[in-house]
Amino acid sequence: MDGDLRRDRLDWKGPRVVGGEAAVKSRRWRAHAAHGAGAVAGVHGAARPWQSHRTEFRVMGSDTDSDRTSDGHETVRLDGSRGEGGGQILRTALTLSLLTGRPFRMTKVRANRDKPGLRPQHKTAIDAAAELGNARVVGAAVGSREVAFSPAEYQSRDLSLDIGTAGSTGLVLQTLHLPLALRTGDAVRLMLAGGTFNPKAPAYTFLEATWRGYLWAFGMPVALSMPSAGFYPRGGGRLEAWIEPASPRPWVQLERGPLRKIRVIAGVANLRDDIAARMRDRALERLAEAGLDAEIEIELVRWPSPGQGAALTLVAEHDATIPAAFIGLGERGKPSEAVADEAVDQLLAFEAVEGAAVDPHSADQILLPLAFAAGRSAFTVSEVTEHLRTNIHTIAAFLERTITVEEPEAEGQPGRVVIE
Ligand code: ATP
Repeated sequence: MDGDLRRDRLDWKGPRVVGGEAAVKSRRWRAHAAHGAGAVAGVHGAARPWQSHRTEFRVMGSDTDSDRTSDGHETVRLDGSRGEGGGQILRTALTLSLLTGRPFRMTKVRANRDKPGLRPQHKTAIDAAAELGNARVVGAAVGSREVAFSPAEYQSRDLSLDIGTAGSTGLVLQTLHLPLALRTGDAVRLMLAGGTFNPKAPAYTFLEATWRGYLWAFGMPVALSMPSAGFYPRGGGRLEAWIEPASPRPWVQLERGPLRKIRVIAGVANLRDDIAARMRDRALERLAEAGLDAEIEIELVRWPSPGQGAALTLVAEHDATIPAAFIGLGERGKPSEAVADEAVDQLLAFEAVEGAAVDPHSADQILLPLAFAAGRSAFTVSEVTEHLRTNIHTIAAFLERTITVEEPEAEGQPGRVVIE
């Protein structure tokens, strides 16, 4: 590629990092499907602010809900402040509503965020979902804290969407991907403009190395490209996706094989090359200190972009699992070394949990395709996050699936997710 400065490979050997002794009594909790809005889901174990030791409680619904559309669908009522309380509840609900035909109403949208309510990225996802599903929508304005979405007939088409800010293109892509893949006869093209490297969202390099890898494993081929990188505050990144019609198949991965390779991708947009080199050097130093036994592959990249930005991506490739990508993101005043540390810390945390097949971010993202796969899926994860629990509850409000999470009681042990 044009922007590559150079690629080189180093090899070193050292002791492998392994997790602690495997003596864990795991706690289990379980959410199963709602029989109409306001149905119950059983939960066992783990005490969280919004979980309980009781075996049953109401999931995402109100007791009084009885709205029905003309074709008999009950409205799903969602509380956007539950659990993680971010935009993920809304995005998951949009995907599920398009695929099931069930309308939903959500209150307290993104209540747990600094700027609650819809941001431009969420509005773009709603508008695009409404276009695909010919949906009636109430409350789809930036800042809105209540949204009602009622889909009608689904119509597949290519889409070109501009978020208008540096908001995450990856999150909009993930909202629309499943309906586009499951409901089309032909491949569709999705073009998005906005941010491609955002904090707390899947960056382009993560989508390319990790998310796409999972989809491939589920039998859902997607091609991605990033003609231009978008960073805060300028945005202007472009993400393009070519989505093949496909249905996900179940996936079981309970082990992680040995670490074979780490790809170090140090990228800059309209910044000096030595920033990329410093991120690389720090990452190499830290990885060497940790003594990981792996081949190292280095890519220094200049991305075209209307703005400035820097990112360090580490892609950890183990035998028998999908590559896991960890990202450090540059910002004004943040030293290149701190950017590298951010990515290395995440990678080492993952390596320290021996046997965990899936990284914490992927875990909540792969639930949705697997919930549409016919059959049982199961995987281990290095950390059970609030995003994971929250996504399970949103899925349980729409679908007849039983999803169980076993949470380890000791640090350094993987959790396990089973979708039945
Ligand atoms: P924001 O905080 O910008 O409003 P949001 O509220 O719309 O974001 P969240 O509900 O926080 O969104 O969901 C963020 C999603 O991004 C989750 O699926 C999470 O797994 C994913 N994510 C967060 N950080 C990363 C990362 N570093 N790599 C990959 N995925 C990530």
